Amino acid sequence: MIPFVNLKKQRNFYKNELTEAEKEVLESGCFIGGPQVENLEKELAAYIGAPDLQCVSCGSGTDAITIALMALGLRPGDEVIVPDFTFIAPAECVSLMGGVPKFADINPQTLQIDPESVCGLVTERTVGIIGVNLFGQCAPFEKLKEIADHHGLWLLEDAAQAFGARRGTQMACTLGDISITSFYPTKPLGCYGDGGALFTHDSQLAERIRMIANHGSKGHYHHEILGLNSRLDALQAAILRVKLRHLKDELEIRRNNACKYDELFHDSNISHKLGDPIPQTLSPGNESSVAQYTLLVQNREKFIEILKGIEVPYCIHYPAPLSEQKCFQEILADKTGNGPVYTPNAHLASTQAISLPVCAFTDVDEIIGRIKNF
Ligand SMILES: *Cc1c(COP(=O)(O)O)cnc(C)c1O
Repeated sequence: MIPFVNLKKQRNFYKNELTEAEKEVLESGCFIGGPQVENLEKELAAYIGAPDLQCVSCGSGTDAITIALMALGLRPGDEVIVPDFTFIAPAECVSLMGGVPKFADINPQTLQIDPESVCGLVTERTVGIIGVNLFGQCAPFEKLKEIADHHGLWLLEDAAQAFGARRGTQMACTLGDISITSFYPTKPLGCYGDGGALFTHDSQLAERIRMIANHGSKGHYHHEILGLNSRLDALQAAILRVKLRHLKDELEIRRNNACKYDELFHDSNISHKLGDPIPQTLSPGNESSVAQYTLLVQNREKFIEILKGIEVPYCIHYPAPLSEQKCFQEILADKTGNGPVYTPNAHLASTQAISLPVCAFTDVDEIIGRIKNF
């Protein structure tokens, strides 16, 4: 069976570099912080290439969101607007801190948060917006920023799936007051465990973020604020430094793979046999990190049967809108008295979305061959 993300093949490609980096850390006796972590933070910021951008690594993408919300001063009862169709972390972190997630609908073609829906959710209790770069494509941040500026809100960019993506002249991880990414193993830049990072241009915020990730301390058992233990291991940092050197090439292959799929699904004869799946639309000026290659298909069950028949793996991201998840029902009912605003596009996407393997070590030609011959 073809793996959905081929991490074994990736490791084989970089084996010498990786084992050397791993050995160096294991023999250094320095496992938390230290030169690997410091160098990685500098290299991540340099990769994005925005002057004065500061990077602070941490324990995971989810931790990065929590740390960002702490740094931005989220208080119980505060409302934060999040997309209804994405991974749970943004809404989960807001809720765990006593905040209230307000679920915005998405654009039915790009699947990104819909600024018009965001506008309709702003109340006097709203403090911020979390935009998510879904499947590697940047959300319409210039529009989100307009809304945030107009209402005096902060803007958090969740680029967990989009390190290395671009929107116009701006790179992902530079689009929010704070931006976060994740190094979960199957993300476009992944380590061998959990890991994450935050980015900001604001040096005061950066200092606060660094303290929060380390027990609210600058490192000498003096704790100015409450914080967490959320640090990236030196071993993960060393692994990420190796993979970062190859990221540009990998992203290019991912984008090339996506183009091959686009071509396939735009061939109406083939497409019709498959139930007319429609690829996620890339908005103009966007360069995706192609974390997922996602299609919308009306009869998803039939499409899945075809994929199973030709042994092509798939994933469903995501099977339900977040506003329908059981864990949020109490929060939403308790604090607002009425349920969330209905999000027709998020609901439809959750019944139609399906993703195909697209990583740099996937043999997409083989998959396309199987689909063509089906
Ligand atoms: C993966 C992901 C996260 C969380 O990252 P972890 O490192 O797994 O905690 C947050 N937001 C989005 C959109 C993600 O895809």
